[in-house]
Amino acid sequence: MPSAWRRFWWVLLALFALNFIVSLALSGKPARLSVPYTLFYHQVQQGNVREISSKGDEIQGTFRVAVRYPAGKGGRTKTKFQTVRPAFGDDGISKLLIAKNVTVNAHSVDTGTPLWQTIVFGFGPTLLLVALFVALARRSSGGGVLGQFGRSGARRYEHSAQRTTFRDVAGIDEAEEELIEVVDFLRNPDRYLRVGGAIPKGVLLAGPPGTGKTLLARAVAGEADVPFFSISASEFIEAIVGVGASRVRDLFNQAKQAAPAIIFVDELDAIGRARGGGASFGGHDEREQTLNQILTEMDGFTGAEGVIVLGATNRPEILDPALLRPGRFDRRVFVNPPDRDGRRKILEVHTRSVPLADDVDLGQVAASTPGMVGADLRNLVNEAALTAARRDHERVTAADFSDALEKIVLGTERRITLSPDERERTAYHESGHAVLGMLEPGADPVRKVSIIPRGQSLGVTFQSPESDRYGYDATYLRGRIVGALGGRAAEEIVYGTVTTGAESDLEQITNIARQMVGRWGMSENVGLVTVLPRPGSEQGPLAGLDPNAPSESTRELVDTEVRRIVDECYERALDRLRENRDRLDSLAKALLENETLDERDAYAAAGFDRPPAAAADRPVTVSARDVQRPQ
Ligand code: ADP
Ligand code: MG
Ligand code: ZN
Repeated sequence: MPSAWRRFWWVLLALFALNFIVSLALSGKPARLSVPYTLFYHQVQQGNVREISSKGDEIQGTFRVAVRYPAGKGGRTKTKFQTVRPAFGDDGISKLLIAKNVTVNAHSVDTGTPLWQTIVFGFGPTLLLVALFVALARRSSGGGVLGQFGRSGARRYEHSAQRTTFRDVAGIDEAEEELIEVVDFLRNPDRYLRVGGAIPKGVLLAGPPGTGKTLLARAVAGEADVPFFSISASEFIEAIVGVGASRVRDLFNQAKQAAPAIIFVDELDAIGRARGGGASFGGHDEREQTLNQILTEMDGFTGAEGVIVLGATNRPEILDPALLRPGRFDRRVFVNPPDRDGRRKILEVHTRSVPLADDVDLGQVAASTPGMVGADLRNLVNEAALTAARRDHERVTAADFSDALEKIVLGTERRITLSPDERERTAYHESGHAVLGMLEPGADPVRKVSIIPRGQSLGVTFQSPESDRYGYDATYLRGRIVGALGGRAAEEIVYGTVTTGAESDLEQITNIARQMVGRWGMSENVGLVTVLPRPGSEQGPLAGLDPNAPSESTRELVDTEVRRIVDECYERALDRLRENRDRLDSLAKALLENETLDERDAYAAAGFDRPPAAAADRPVTVSARDVQRPQ
């Protein structure tokens, strides 16, 4: 909307300018010479008037020979003239006119401006303005016309040649199966009703962004053979205030008429946020009304309508609990990031139309992309194809894939030249991370170390675990903190000074330590209580009034404990690096020579003879030395 509004004001300004110019032009000198009646009378007497038109006492006409008036300097010379006849007495003008052979009343008196001009310039701006309002209204109501403001703006899905099917969805089988079942409910309701089963009214797809929720819903639309209405929740509230609720009503009415049908509300968190709860100080009425209307509509279902509401959200934890009560979104389907096998299947889907070289092993690509979701993998395939095209390859090769992956994970290489000092410092910083990653018990193995500047970092150390981890123990988490502090510690040991390059390391550390203390009960002094809100829950101006909020003293204790953990870990990082100074030095030296070391070379350079193990599923740890940008 903002850009639309800006355009609106520009157009308005232009209209005003146009109006101004036109009225200026029209108010200019009249096209006819205004002459006194006496002058006119004399000209008639002299036979110099060809024709006149008259209305009331106004006379317009043409001289045979142009007349100058007023005589002398300021005058104008013209044949067209106008004058006004005085209303007194009879001057015998009509006889005179006939005598002098003047054509009388040849055409009606013109009023200065032609009629069409009057209409265009008089009404034009207004008409344009009205048209503009209509256009704006149409935009915001998603394709209606004025008068249709309440329309839902939902799109009814039409089957097309390239519809999305379950074949386009891979790697999220559990969610897929649940939805296939939902589709079956709609197709064969009797089968379920016969045995007394209640058909769900609402199904909520929840999961991280890019895992394929919207895609899954589209596949349902493509496969269900029932009318499918889809709308993004943000579209409900983008419209003019007060419209959201009526749109919801229309949407549900449409669906009920078309039943059995599916309504898909994407990005439900945009309206479904918990109400009241601290953050909202007014301004959210629209959202709340829309949400209430959805709840009302869903409550109104008896279950016999054959309408199922499908919702999708990236952030189920911030949804209003009212949405999740039975009888509303009573089924929740979690769409989890795909595991290794799932990633391979997703890659297969997206490489269907991509020519692959023989050396490409999608299983291998899947193994090296832990933590990536469907959208990331699609992006990876695309990036690899672009890389191949840039290199003029006929087919996409394994090298194209690994370079594309490196670029995505580590960022694009930057062409900045570091001074030798800066380079050496970066090499020590990264070696600090890497050596501790190799030494700490339970730490994720180091996969790659590089001092090539990329994106926001001067260098990176890349770690990922050997096997799946779904929970973390305190030793591992401390190991993570120690490793992340390794860069800073190495700089302090080698140079005795520190730089700004550890900002993102410190953020990461603070995060882990705070959660250990405040959420996971890993600090004895704070104990087994959670004192931090879950990430994503709203912290507004009223958060302090929450009866469940931790007391001031507890929060101070959390801060103290966080500090204690980080301090202990930093001491440990310093100790371990001092003990292993030789490893640190030789790794830094190898990095300065080679810029990038992969797993095998990095371990060898640091003096370990550890066989590298395959990477497994879990997001990787990246410790980067930041580009310095003090503010
Ligand atoms: P979400 O709605 O969960 O944020 P999307 O459905 O919009 O994610 O996913 C974006 C794109 O990523 C999809 O259009 C699809 O190309 C790709 N994608 C995501 N998940 C999958 C999957 N499981 N299988 C195949 N492609 C996927
Ligand atoms: Mg989506
Ligand atoms: Zn670092």
